[in-house]
Amino acid sequence: MSIPADYHMHTPLCRHATGEPTELAAQAVKLGLPEIGFSDHSPMARDDFDDWRMKAAELDQYVAKVEKARRNHPNLLIKLAMEVDYLPGHEAWIHDLAQRHPWDYFIGSVHYVSETWALDSPSQISKWKNRDPFEVWTAYFDRLTMAAESGLFDVIGHADLCKRFCFYPKQDCTSLYTHFLDAVESHDIAIELNTGGLRKDCKEIYPSPQIVHLAAERRIPITFGSDAHAPGEVGMNLTEAVELARSTGYTHYCQFTKRKRSEVILPR
Ligand SMILES: [Zn+2]
Ligand SMILES: [Zn+2]
Repeated sequence: MSIPADYHMHTPLCRHATGEPTELAAQAVKLGLPEIGFSDHSPMARDDFDDWRMKAAELDQYVAKVEKARRNHPNLLIKLAMEVDYLPGHEAWIHDLAQRHPWDYFIGSVHYVSETWALDSPSQISKWKNRDPFEVWTAYFDRLTMAAESGLFDVIGHADLCKRFCFYPKQDCTSLYTHFLDAVESHDIAIELNTGGLRKDCKEIYPSPQIVHLAAERRIPITFGSDAHAPGEVGMNLTEAVELARSTGYTHYCQFTKRKRSEVILPR
């Protein structure tokens, strides 16, 4: 099976990835990908917010690196995007970022369930041990729903990142998922199938088959992303994600150009 567009890839500017954009693009060409999109971790209004993203002053450098990859690989479609952290209160900053460059899309991701706790951070895993998983998952999906309703994003990233370390609630979470997906549907945005989860403790694509099924019922558009933090991860497991999409009834995925969405047939 051929590989779909990989819309979730990082660069060394975020301080925890290797491989320049042009190197990731070279790998994509080698694998025969039709299209890729760089979606590095967006800067925050305060550079000292955390230590796993580019600084605000590096934004132009980021765009220049993506442009260089485009020049070096003229036959590969390369999109300019960011994975933007959604936190309540950061909306004006995100709106400002959107004005600065001709972005193709913004992935809205929730990593932070409070101002200081990124729930997927290995250095903060001890916080899970003092909390009820259902309470954390509820806080996570509440924020994800707010992200979908914000109008700031084209795609919602890794929609059940809260499963990363396998702190699963005992309760049924279906109503958290449907509340979130109803917001995605009514705001006419997409979700991504992110294979990064397969490389984590949860060993499962984000989001789960249950959520992909619920999304398919609502005809919510999808993108695919490897969440590559190194050239060797480009396109990784995306054919599995395509199979998951197909098994739930999807026939198409989507691409973005200057924040306009269009449909592409799933690869065979
Ligand atoms: Zn990262
Ligand atoms: Zn992320």
